[in-house]
Amino acid sequence: MLDKTVTDWQSAAASLDIEGRAFINGRYVDALSGHSQQTHNPANGAVLTAVAKCAPEDAEIAVRGARELFERGSWANMPPADRKMVLVRWAELIEKHADELALLESLDVGKPISDTLNSDVPSAVRTIRWSGEAIDKIYDEISPAPADCLALIQRLPLGVIAAIVPWNFPLSTTAWKLAPALATGNSVILKPATNTPLSALFIARLASEAGLPDGALQVLPGPGRSLGKCLATHMDIDGITFTGSTPVGKMLMEYSGQSNLKRTFLELGGKSPNIVFADANLAKAASMAAIAVFYNGGQTCTAGTRLIVEEKIRDEFLELVINKAADWMPGDPLNPNTRMGPMIDRAQFETVAGYVEVGRDEGAELVFGGKRVLSESGGYYHEPSIFSSVDNQMRISQEEIFGPVMSVLTFSSADEAVQMANDSIYGLAGAVWSNNINTAHKVAAAVRVGTMGINNYFGGDITVPFGGFKQSGNGRDKSLHALNDYTELKTTWIEFE
Ligand code: NAD
Repeated sequence: MLDKTVTDWQSAAASLDIEGRAFINGRYVDALSGHSQQTHNPANGAVLTAVAKCAPEDAEIAVRGARELFERGSWANMPPADRKMVLVRWAELIEKHADELALLESLDVGKPISDTLNSDVPSAVRTIRWSGEAIDKIYDEISPAPADCLALIQRLPLGVIAAIVPWNFPLSTTAWKLAPALATGNSVILKPATNTPLSALFIARLASEAGLPDGALQVLPGPGRSLGKCLATHMDIDGITFTGSTPVGKMLMEYSGQSNLKRTFLELGGKSPNIVFADANLAKAASMAAIAVFYNGGQTCTAGTRLIVEEKIRDEFLELVINKAADWMPGDPLNPNTRMGPMIDRAQFETVAGYVEVGRDEGAELVFGGKRVLSESGGYYHEPSIFSSVDNQMRISQEEIFGPVMSVLTFSSADEAVQMANDSIYGLAGAVWSNNINTAHKVAAAVRVGTMGINNYFGGDITVPFGGFKQSGNGRDKSLHALNDYTELKTTWIEFE
């Protein structure tokens, strides 16, 4: 509950029983090699627990178990109404453990407890419940075939899916993958990010308790380059669903081509434009512009990192945004008032600090932040930071920083704003702020991204698809459209005598 104080959360953390073993065929096991690696709390660098370091030999056992279950059909062919009940029970169990799970996610990722409790955990619950509820309400198709024929078009599970996810929203991204993959009857092998495996390991046990058969969900923590690659090149895995960086996404496409052409769906990076016209509600737009970049410390694929402002309001608007940025100074994630926590680790902090240097060298003007703070904590906390006088060709405008760094650009016509917004290798998300319905719609339609907000940022829920254009990916999470990534269409053509 949010009425808990920082001391309450700290004492709950001290008595938390943390599971770090892999989850294979319905039980927790160590890696066959016995190897493990430590996972740390980004808030202070303290070791949380040792986590199984799975390797290809563990993957073999997991794939075999997942395949056997799929072939037996005890999950794939279970009546949809029964699969639904398993997922709904799973969602209920997660909800029952919301406080513990929110705490675990906060400790593992360095996310503010208010976010994990109010957003990450409820989002996972809703995703799993919604996908479960949907699955016994979806009909297949009959084609308009000639009268002496009957043609059935059915959606069948792919088989064994590998889901590989990043560290920035471990629980909610995991739910976005697992819910539709399991609802459609697949067996799934989940590889969490090396540094944030704990919430996935926690909810795997709850899935078993809810009645998910052994082998339907395997959770293998381990390194991307060995374990992840092994899954992506495996000849007995039928599909990959991935969220992560664009360079790794490109490798996964290659691995698919080099192995068995497994279906490969990717949710990748972004450099999203947030366009503000002079006639917008500027107070609201400024507040959301700060949220768009500083939420989750900017470690968000959809972060609105390019703030594209109409030239004539630049100074006025920048002042509003700077005032809002001051509310985002980082703090202890277990303090319920903290809005922004630390960077996930030292490497990510150094990437962010490096880009602050790049911005300065490129001639942009640092008007807020730019420094490490709270270094005595042992965590890597970075101030919310704003560059103005940015040109869209600068590296800080083109490259994904994945930290709390905003680039402010200006435009003088709607066409110029759209051209600038689209001048990016990415196409994940964006927003436009204007009280003129024509301007807002025209600009929203012209920006080539998977999700566009009008007078909001981060809008959307489980009912709408989420994914990228261009090098932001090809798959779609959420909504009924997500089911496409986990199923094959099968035609059965019947002729009557
Ligand atoms: P990453 O690509 O480094 O890692 C993602 C996952 O891939 C991890 O589990 C990692 O272990 C694994 N991996 C790494 N190398 C691999 C390989 N060669 N073969 C197989 N698996 C491998 O990404 P990250 O740093 O963990 O996360 C940040 C990135 O994720 C950012 O680019 C961000 O934009 C992106 N992201 C995208 C979305 C989206 O929905 N579009 C959402 C969140 C994050």
